[in-house]
Amino acid sequence: MATAEIRRTVEPTTSRAPSAAPSAARAEHEARRAALVEQLRRADAPPRLEKEISNLFRERAPAPATRIDTRAFRHVLAVDPEAGTVEVEGMCPYGELVDATLAHGVMPAVVPELMGITIGGALAGVGIESTSFRHGLVHETVLEFDMVTAKGEVVTARPDNEHAELFFGFPNSYGTLGYAIRILAKTIPVKPFVRLEHRKFCDPEAYYPALAAACEDPSADFVEGEIFARDRMVVSIGRFVDHAPWTSDYTFEKIYYKSILECDEDYLTVRDYIRRWDTDWFWCSKNLGMEIPLVRRLVGRERLNSRTYTRIMRWANRWKLGKVYDLLGYRSEAVIQDVGIPLAKAAEFLAWFHDTIGILPIWNCPFRAIHPHGFPLFRTPPGALYVNFGFWHPIRRREAKPDGWYNRQIEKKVAELGGVKSLYSDSYYPEDEFWQRYDREVYDRLKRRYDPEGRLRGLYEKCVLKR
Ligand SMILES: Cc1cc2nc3c(=O)[nH]c(=O)nc-3n(C[C@H](O)[C@H](O)[C@H](O)COP(=O)(O)OP(=O)(O)OC[C@H]3O[C@@H](n4cnc5c(N)ncnc54)[C@H](O)[C@@H]3O)c2cc1C
Repeated sequence: MATAEIRRTVEPTTSRAPSAAPSAARAEHEARRAALVEQLRRADAPPRLEKEISNLFRERAPAPATRIDTRAFRHVLAVDPEAGTVEVEGMCPYGELVDATLAHGVMPAVVPELMGITIGGALAGVGIESTSFRHGLVHETVLEFDMVTAKGEVVTARPDNEHAELFFGFPNSYGTLGYAIRILAKTIPVKPFVRLEHRKFCDPEAYYPALAAACEDPSADFVEGEIFARDRMVVSIGRFVDHAPWTSDYTFEKIYYKSILECDEDYLTVRDYIRRWDTDWFWCSKNLGMEIPLVRRLVGRERLNSRTYTRIMRWANRWKLGKVYDLLGYRSEAVIQDVGIPLAKAAEFLAWFHDTIGILPIWNCPFRAIHPHGFPLFRTPPGALYVNFGFWHPIRRREAKPDGWYNRQIEKKVAELGGVKSLYSDSYYPEDEFWQRYDREVYDRLKRRYDPEGRLRGLYEKCVLKR
């Protein structure tokens, strides 16, 4: 059991806000929409999203563009706990969306870890979290959305209307078909606390069956895994509870991922559970010195989060600080990826990954496709359990390798094992192979219908060629 110096007394949240969108909120939304449509209609160069923050991990070549300011589209329009829905604008960061829904005793069915990620970005860029074993990826929890095209037309996409193909083809389109500005998504009821169980394993042949078993356990509300070494893996299961004998606090001096190895049981408030990985960007804050206690105190609780680290990272990239390693004779390659592997192949992928890539820790998050129709740009067989492998670290070696060599090996291995790869970071696919993985026929049809003039870049151009 972890040393208990930072435990907080238990105060359940009580405040309730109205559920149906007051006409004023809707009127304001429509005024913002009209202004955005005007911006797009007046744009004389290809539009480009102006957002408060981005979690994209690929530097794009500068190109003439008209910055389309969408930062105002961050309002929660309605929360309806009875219907199990939340209506929200597309650029609303999950940090704000979560707080608005928790006030009604619910949370979005899937909430990505980094609180700066927006619901529209997670819909367009594929989002995942520890409820995805039951509710699927973020796009599986969306019931309908309004998309504005590059020409300023607004369409409502639902699985059962004339824009159904767009509804299923939008996830993983990365803003190349249009921008989601209003989203109706599913919520799930919450309880004030989450009881955590961390089960330790030293053999993948025992670890993956245990991860799968947890996904079949009806009492489990949250399931994920962490891999710290070849012989140190943990299945972490969360369950909603009304009462907690204590709660831990990982929002300041203590570090969540370290607690996973130190304790078998833990309690967090539901809000802190949702934010457990954001305070230290999983384990990546250490690359910025944030695990040094004095640095943590100087930075302070409010700034210990992924937004701060993303800003520091963008600044470091702008000033090419990574080049220091080149001067020391190292060759660096950023390997920042999330890939989905069929459960049956997970142990095989892990063994290969240890031998060939060697990044640790690794985040494992089980997910399955729910909707029988499937999503052509991020297709996995409905119902089949997949395991997301998340790994985010530069590889620095002295021996010279072709550009993107490690990322390319990962792409080939994922393809060989029938997996899927997120496109938020670097990709090196040759074009023909790319379109074998992401359904060209459907994409081209959608592109012809919703962006006939090609005012927005193509998916391959944007996600691989970084244009
Ligand atoms: C270190 C790291 C860890 C990550 N971990 C997770 C994770 O655990 N869980 C998870 O779910 N995701 C994770 N992601 C991926 C992240 O969810 C995606 O990159 C997501 O697209 C980011 O959303 P954003 O709102 O920050 O959008 P941005 O990063 O700003 O944009 C992402 C892409 O989506 C497009 N886009 C953004 N908003 C919209 C919109 N409203 N309509 C249409 N297109 C839009 C942009 O044009 C861009 O191409 C991780 C990413 C990183 C870098």
